[in-house]
Formats: sequence, C-alpha cells, structure tokens
Amino acid sequence: MIRFDDKVAVVTGAGAGLGRAYALLLAERGAKVVVNDLGGSTRGDGSSTNAADTVVEEIKKKGGIAAADYNSVVDGDKIIKTALENFGKVDIVINNAGILRDKTFSRISDSDWDLVHNVHVRGAFKVTQAAWENFRKQKYGRVVFTASNAGLLGNFGQANYSAAKMALVGLCNTLAIEGAKYNIHSNVIVPTAASRLTENILPPDFFEQLKPELIAPVVTWLCHEDCEENGSIIESAAGWASKQIIVRGKGSVLRRSLADPVSIEDVREKWDKVVNVEKIDYLGSIQEETANLTKYFSEMDGSL
Ligand code: NAD
Repeated sequence: MIRFDDKVAVVTGAGAGLGRAYALLLAERGAKVVVNDLGGSTRGDGSSTNAADTVVEEIKKKGGIAAADYNSVVDGDKIIKTALENFGKVDIVINNAGILRDKTFSRISDSDWDLVHNVHVRGAFKVTQAAWENFRKQKYGRVVFTASNAGLLGNFGQANYSAAKMALVGLCNTLAIEGAKYNIHSNVIVPTAASRLTENILPPDFFEQLKPELIAPVVTWLCHEDCEENGSIIESAAGWASKQIIVRGKGSVLRRSLADPVSIEDVREKWDKVVNVEKIDYLGSIQEETANLTKYFSEMDGSL
C-alpha cells in the first residue's frame, strides 16, 4: 500500500473541492496535512475559518493528523510556518487555491486581472519558495501546480485566468530543472472536476461523473517519494489521466542558403508547411529544442 507516513503536506485551498479531496486522501494514507484555506468566495472576496476547520475536523474524525491555516496563499511564508510549527518540516506542497473573475477581455478591470494573478501565480510562487529551502536541505520535495485547460487551450471569458494558469506551467518547467538534483520534483495537474467553480459551467450529467475524489489519487501519486515524474503536465478527470505535451511541427526552412535573407514573400510561400503539424517532434528540454533546430541548418544550402 502506498503510504505517506512521516511526510508533511501543505495543501492550499483545501477547504473545498479538489484541495479537500487531496487533503483527505493524504491524511488517510498517513501524511500530516496543513489544510490551508482563506475561506472566501469564488471571486476572492471575504474570508472565513470555516472551510479549513471543517476539513481538519473531517480528517481528525477519521483518525488522521491535520492543522488548519487560514492565510491567503500570497502570504506563503505564513502557511509554511504553520507546517513547521505544527509538524517540524514540510515535504509536499500542492498549490491548489484558486478563484475566478470571468469577463470578456475588454471588460477585465485591473483588479480582476491582479487578483486572479495574485492568487494563482504569486500565491504559488510564495508558498513554493517558502518551502524550497527546506526541500533543498532535506534533499526531498514534491510540488504540484494546478493549471487548467482554459490556459492550455484558452476559454471564452477567461483571459485573466488562462494567462495565470499558463504562467504556472512555465514556473513548474523551470523548478523541475532547478530542483532535480535535490530530489525536488515539480509537476502540473490539469483537473476537470465538479466543484463550486464549475457547477454553473459544466453540463449536469457530465458534472455527476467528475468527482474530485477521482483525481486525488493521481495528484497524491505525484507527491509520493516513489514517483519519478518531474516537469510533466498531467491531465485528469472522471477516473482518467494522461500526460499532455508541447510539440513542434516539422516546419519549413524559409531560405535556400545560410547566406540568404528571409523575405515576407518567402514566409507566405512556405506558410502551409510552417503551420503543418501532421508530423511532430516532441521536445523534452531546451537542449533538445536547440539540437532539433540546428538539424534544419543542414537543409539550407551552405555550411556553418
Ligand atoms: P473550489 O472553489 O472548490 O476550491 C478552491 C479553494 O481555494 C476554495 O476553498 C477557496 O476558499 C480557496 N482559496 C481561494 N483563494 C485563496 C487564497 N488566496 N488563499 C487560500 N485559499 C484560497 O475550486 P476547485 O474547483 O476545487 O479548484 C481548485 C483548483 O483547481 C483551482 O486552482 C482551480 O483554478 C483549478 N481548476 C479546477 C478545475 C475544475 O474543473 N474544478 C479545472 C481546472 C482548474
């Protein structure tokens, strides 16, 4: 059985929805869990201790170990302090807290933009950075960031949220590289789940099948010491999961020789090939990306 005995996990936004499911499962498998939740509205207004307290109660009733934390994720250092004060260390951070301020692009106010970015991006940055030094010292850490298909694919009325969610993919990509030698693994979860954020968006029949409990084992596995995954985007919903990747088409060289310039007309002429993605290259790292690019030099008549 996969266990988390002696591990301390911080789950942000764990007072409801997906975060609650992660916290319950981690505690059930032996982890000591900091249940963080600001307890505000889906728009990020207000605050309450109820959300975090209710989940801590649930965990304790089942014999688990948990501590409540009511700080906003933008005060990430305070959340990690709660873990250190209660349990003496931190091993796992699940950046899950989130809000929505959906508006079509022209109607997004500065505060709609800033608050969404603060909670999702700055919040994940602050919580993860506060834990990072502890991870490095103990040569162990597991981090999960929460993105969305609204970021990876775009979604009408969610420009602020889409941009914030994609920022987390970039953050995770680099932390996966920086953390690798310290056994710190960072991955992204792209969930689709029934929660208060999606109750008015998803069709009712579909909503029924999207229990957060069906995603929790995927996220929990990503947090286990036996899980070697690092720097991946994992999508999960309704009892299904898959890795998502960014790929590059074969493209087209736009000039005949390395000495030639590229004209706008060259681009127009080759455009169909530039955007053709029937054949693709998977690029696992920036080194692979550069190596893959230099391969196209040989197609130009000339030598480097
Ligand atoms: P939810 O509203 O049920 O849970 C989010 C929790 O985060 C709430 O309890 C809220 O109080 C808390 N929170 C909000 N701002 C906070 C802050 N500043 N500090 C601490 N806690 C805060 O929503 P959910 O659907 O469970 O969403 C969880 C995460 O998954 C979010 O990041 C969301 O964007 C993401 N997500 C959800 C779906 C989905 O289908 N439900 C899809 C893609 C991404």
